[in-house]
Amino acid sequence: MRVPLIAGNWKMNKTPKEALELVNALKPLVQNAAAEVVVCPTFVALSDVLKAAEGSNIKVGAQNMYHQDSGAYTGEISPVFLKAMNVEFVILGHSERRQYFLESNEEINKKVASALKHGLKPILCVGETLEEREKGITFDVIGEQVKKCLADLQQYNLEDVVVAYEPVWAIGTGRTATKEDANEVIGFIRQQLKEVLGEKLSVNTRILYGGSVKSSNIRELMEMPEIDGALVGGASLDAAEFAKIAIY
Ligand code: PEP
Repeated sequence: MRVPLIAGNWKMNKTPKEALELVNALKPLVQNAAAEVVVCPTFVALSDVLKAAEGSNIKVGAQNMYHQDSGAYTGEISPVFLKAMNVEFVILGHSERRQYFLESNEEINKKVASALKHGLKPILCVGETLEEREKGITFDVIGEQVKKCLADLQQYNLEDVVVAYEPVWAIGTGRTATKEDANEVIGFIRQQLKEVLGEKLSVNTRILYGGSVKSSNIRELMEMPEIDGALVGGASLDAAEFAKIAIY
């Protein structure tokens, strides 16, 4: 059975103090959530948020990492550091990383492998741009992202992999994919997972939808059979709104 997962991507928002306030406000509001609840603050707020989340049902993720364990990579963060802090999840391949930091499927594949090697649970993001959707190549783009980002991982515990389908045109735009479109693409991702990870993992892997998810549209999305949860950006910055999403 796939346990629903609702993850908040706080992006480059909230000082450590504000992040602490947000997680503290969230704790009582989501304590009865049936879904697994994850928040992903910035690196500099991780420590405070982890401490505050201890003993609650809120889990903590990072928003990125480098694929190497250590070395001369100025400004980068190693999976070893995240693991040492007890970070559980890490978002990888977010479209903003692909767009602004030119992350390729090959680089993201290295990051997924490294996360799994160190026992972190990757939330792998895939999604097409508006131009790609309009050209009718959504499935080609998504198929390639899934296959390349999840290539050659057989030696790792792949049960920890989470995939997030985030159409780029729906992120931060207020434009949500219809529940039918989201369900169709997520169903397609599950078929691709069958080819890369095998039948059992394709059935068990959680695939989230992300892109302008709000308390007003979460329920209809969660009613769709293929959608196992949500990766939430803007709406995760407000405790009351994110809690409503988490307890949908
Ligand atoms: C995201 O960045 O992962 C996201 C889904 O953002 P938003 O909810 O703001 O569209």
